[in-house]
Amino acid sequence: MIKTNYHTHIYLCKHATGTPDEYFQKAVDCGYQHMAISDHMPLSEELKLRITSRRMNFDEYKNEYLPLLERSKNKFKGICTSSALEAEYFEEMLDYYPSFLEDVDFLILGQHYVKNEYGQFIDVYATLDEYLLNNYCECLEKGCASGYFKIIAHPDIYLYRKKGFNEKCQEVANRIIQAAYLNNVALEINANGIRKNRDFINDMGESVHIYPRIEFWRLVADFQKEHELKVVVNDDSHSVDDFCDESTKKAYQFASSLGIKLTEFPL
Ligand SMILES: [Zn+2]
Ligand SMILES: [Zn+2]
Repeated sequence: MIKTNYHTHIYLCKHATGTPDEYFQKAVDCGYQHMAISDHMPLSEELKLRITSRRMNFDEYKNEYLPLLERSKNKFKGICTSSALEAEYFEEMLDYYPSFLEDVDFLILGQHYVKNEYGQFIDVYATLDEYLLNNYCECLEKGCASGYFKIIAHPDIYLYRKKGFNEKCQEVANRIIQAAYLNNVALEINANGIRKNRDFINDMGESVHIYPRIEFWRLVADFQKEHELKVVVNDDSHSVDDFCDESTKKAYQFASSLGIKLTEFPL
């Protein structure tokens, strides 16, 4: 089992608990080689008016998140520790990504909001119509092409409300796979979807996780037969107890059962 995790949340987002020290200590105890903290990026003042999302603000980012990570990274030797942010691709934030990258080691692309035809932000966990699915795809494609991101978090999240995997879902999957491949961005198998314990029966009569969705990852496995496409398993833990638990193990089993090759350390 590869022991890397690049996706972790801490108390600062206010919907998670745990400090970088606590997570890094558990990573050492579990024999990890590389561990990254990647809390949700702060939103600009303009976007805060348009999106309701519990996360750290810019003051907390500058005065708490960055100093905390700096101290914590220096404390743990013998394990590679990284600072990161989980960020959506928003045109409105384009000026911010380069400066984030001066502060942290890398960014992961977690698109939690998409825009409808009126320019309003819609939660990605809502039912996504064709317009929203296209917007989701475009955000990931532009995000990958921007060169700012190393990993796409839960790329299959667009299937959250979909029991079936129709042609459109397949088209979206293929576009995401292409974008990741062409820009050397890794796709993430997200253990937190397994942790949510919301498995259900899909239209084909198979029992599936809410994510990672087997229909999506079968396409990834097929693509990997011909191409070098990076895939990682990430925890996306929102508490230290969640980190490296049964769901993590199931995520690794999920990958190996499909014959998916995981990217070796270092990323
Ligand atoms: Zn979160
Ligand atoms: Zn996350």
